[in-house]
Amino acid sequence: MTVNPFEMAKKQIDIVAEEMDLDPNIHKFLKRVERSLIVSIPIMMDDGTLKVFEGYRVHHSTIRGPGKGGLRFSLGVNLDEVKALATWMTWKTSLLNLPLGGAKGGICVDPFKLSKKELEKLTRRFTAEIINIIGPDIDIPAPDVNTNAQIMAWIMDTYSMQKGRTIPGVVTGKPIEIGGSVGRANATGTGLYFVLQALVEKLRLDLKSLKIVVQGFGNVGGTIADLLYKHGCKVIAVSDISTGIYCEDGLDVEKLLAWAKQGNLLKDYKNDKYKLIGNDELLTSKCDVLIPAAIENQITEKNAEKIDCKIVLEGANGPTTPEADKILLKKEIYVVPDILANSGGVCVSYFEYVQDINSYFWKLDRINEELKRIIIEAFEETFKISKERSISLRTAAYIIAVSRIAKAIELRGIFP
Ligand code: GLU
Repeated sequence: MTVNPFEMAKKQIDIVAEEMDLDPNIHKFLKRVERSLIVSIPIMMDDGTLKVFEGYRVHHSTIRGPGKGGLRFSLGVNLDEVKALATWMTWKTSLLNLPLGGAKGGICVDPFKLSKKELEKLTRRFTAEIINIIGPDIDIPAPDVNTNAQIMAWIMDTYSMQKGRTIPGVVTGKPIEIGGSVGRANATGTGLYFVLQALVEKLRLDLKSLKIVVQGFGNVGGTIADLLYKHGCKVIAVSDISTGIYCEDGLDVEKLLAWAKQGNLLKDYKNDKYKLIGNDELLTSKCDVLIPAAIENQITEKNAEKIDCKIVLEGANGPTTPEADKILLKKEIYVVPDILANSGGVCVSYFEYVQDINSYFWKLDRINEELKRIIIEAFEETFKISKERSISLRTAAYIIAVSRIAKAIELRGIFP
């Protein structure tokens, strides 16, 4: 049985509410999203037939600033998934102490089945449908699963055409030529690397000697696999939608990435030393660091007992269920929660937004320096609370994030 992600997000709130003795009124408040918009997106396909897709944009909280969060194009998208992802964005921006809230959007579609023209029409019509609830001071979308800089450019253009002027700050993750930020494309992977480096130091492990398994080989999984490979780690398994690929002596990540970037699937890669493995085998392979960097609901009560690593570094949002969390905690596996581990993306999105508003652009050194400062500060705070209270890193990170939101609600009061 697959877990409903929004039920899971609410369970996580319950766990932290109990741990921190959260005011029951605020607890109630945080388990609801502020608003959900469901839209129909009619598209005239290239073959002259009409298809109608369903899209969503959800604001979980704008209490600390405009909504912020990605937009995904996938067949798994539904309202509860988007609500969960929006909720997780609230915790993520709060944990980093960014002046932003949490939002998310998506369209239930297989984008690989669309032509470029159809994809552009879908993106533009969706933007037009949600235009009243997005904007630089309302809610700022960004890339997520199966969306990219080109899609952000179409959103920015559609929004700007409707408003009669160019408004780059309506989305982040844009191409650099039209107001995007250097360092944004790799930011999630870079942030994962900074956090892992900091944890490895705390645990007195040697980064170079670590064996790594990465689930997902897209923007997040591909970048972190590449960074760790370049820093001397042995990446023993990676996977994409077609298969997992394993080699005890370590994979040549550079060659695999070049292969994937040409649009190829891992199952078609030829190397006699590499073994093709399934998803379950990949997740339960013995390693030091397991990096789920695909989608939610991967480490569950079904496979958690068999997870054989020291650290789970959550590149994806919501890959571990609360039941699995309990099992991993008992096994003394460090789980670096999504809202911390993969927060590099939204952090550099925030830098992009600030640069757009100021019309002044930073160099890569400054981006990486400030990203490291912000993410490491959040890591240190989380690690400290987890040690002091003997709780998981997830519960510790949630305590920090939820406390900031609770304080903002208390200060602002409930309207009217
Ligand atoms: N989709 C990314 C995430 O889940 C980035 C969101 C953003 O940059 O707004 O964190």
